[in-house]
Amino acid sequence: MEKIPYKIYLEENEMPKEWYNVRADMKKKPAPILNPGTLQPVTKEELAHIFCEELADQELNDVDPYIAIPDEIRNFYRMYRPSPLVRAYCLEEKLKTPAHIYYKFEGNNTSGSHKLNSAIAQAYYAKKQGLKGVTTETGAGQWGTALSMACSYFDLDCQVYMVKVSYEQKPFRREVMRTYGAKVTPSPSMNTEVGRKINAEFPGTTGSLGCAISEAVEAAVTQEGYRYVLGSVLSQVLLHQSVIGLETSAALKKYGIKADTIIGCAGGGSNLGGLISPFVGEMLRGEADYEIIAVEPASCPSLTRGVYAYDFCDTGKVCPLAKMYTLGSNFIPSANHAGGLRYHGMSSIVSELYDQGLIKARSVEQTDVFKAATEFARVEGILPAPESSHAIKVAIDEALKCKETGEEKNIVFGLTGTGYFDMVAYEKYNDGTMSDYIPTDDDLKKYIAQLPQV
Ligand SMILES: *Cc1c(COP(=O)(O)O)cnc(C)c1O
Repeated sequence: MEKIPYKIYLEENEMPKEWYNVRADMKKKPAPILNPGTLQPVTKEELAHIFCEELADQELNDVDPYIAIPDEIRNFYRMYRPSPLVRAYCLEEKLKTPAHIYYKFEGNNTSGSHKLNSAIAQAYYAKKQGLKGVTTETGAGQWGTALSMACSYFDLDCQVYMVKVSYEQKPFRREVMRTYGAKVTPSPSMNTEVGRKINAEFPGTTGSLGCAISEAVEAAVTQEGYRYVLGSVLSQVLLHQSVIGLETSAALKKYGIKADTIIGCAGGGSNLGGLISPFVGEMLRGEADYEIIAVEPASCPSLTRGVYAYDFCDTGKVCPLAKMYTLGSNFIPSANHAGGLRYHGMSSIVSELYDQGLIKARSVEQTDVFKAATEFARVEGILPAPESSHAIKVAIDEALKCKETGEEKNIVFGLTGTGYFDMVAYEKYNDGTMSDYIPTDDDLKKYIAQLPQV
């Protein structure tokens, strides 16, 4: 057998031509999303007020296993895909583990994360529908950056409502977006009714993601030719992110490698869902078996400590209700949490797979995450995003277990992005001032009690 190279690259013509829709192979499908007003399953027509037509179709499609990736999107993918599957030889040596560790690196583009995979798809369908532009919210800024790149490529107007505190604290993220032509507005703003109301009620507020979503949705529905787009959680986003898993599967096959354990970090579940989809498909069809681990922060533990129930996808309660593992849409992680992945719920697909026992979940504390990030950076070179480092932490834990058992298993994890804009969090870790906060059962009960009665 040929020695496995440091980086397994696919050829350009081996890049997937279709996305894989894992819902098609699920016997028990994720529960339908509901109209928050009527509590009835959302129709295509209702969704099309907020989302582009084709994206509304994709959101509701749980029957077609493969959906063609339009050439225009593949042309853009070609600028930064196929992304490498890296054999972490240096990390293995450092850990002295018999395990073989691989990571799929999605940080090789200017936005610095996997979010561009869906941003370009969503921008394409908006352009195809003849829209003028799209609106969205961004917290830390990765999604807004990816979307601004995608919109500039298709010459679409891009309006980003950025949580005010991030707008002020992350000026470089903001300037990247503006360089790509996006209009970035600190939220709450005076542009929208909901923004004016929140500003009047809470003068001087630094905003929240929920508030920014409400502003972005209002901006979309009140401007002719605009739609709202979202960077995670939705089934359409997981569909686009399946490109990660399809490439990973193809790269492993090229060298006859069978993954044993697959690990991904989980915020809203889009990179994890995309990475694992083709492998879960094999499990669902009875072709193979894998151990799959979703990793979440101990300070925002939706899978490990949440409930499986219908909830609002946004704090503003304007988006459809989804059945998911959730901490309640009013839950906000503790202020000392610096590791990202702060969404209160989890993709309905990932939630259903977890509920069926096809995937496991583990929560990790942020000081351990940054310790793993630092260890990884020092031997593998890449400065990982804090989000991605949750997966690194568990990959290292699993590799260390193999050291005890002597097991030569293949561990594959998703390295979703780079951490250049997260240096304030790294600074806290380096200064030794980072702390951990795990919510108590009473903390969690309070928000879970506020779930909508469906
Ligand atoms: C947004 C983000 C995540 C988390 O989002 P998912 O939808 O759970 O994938 C993870 N890593 C990076 C680098 C991100 O930007």
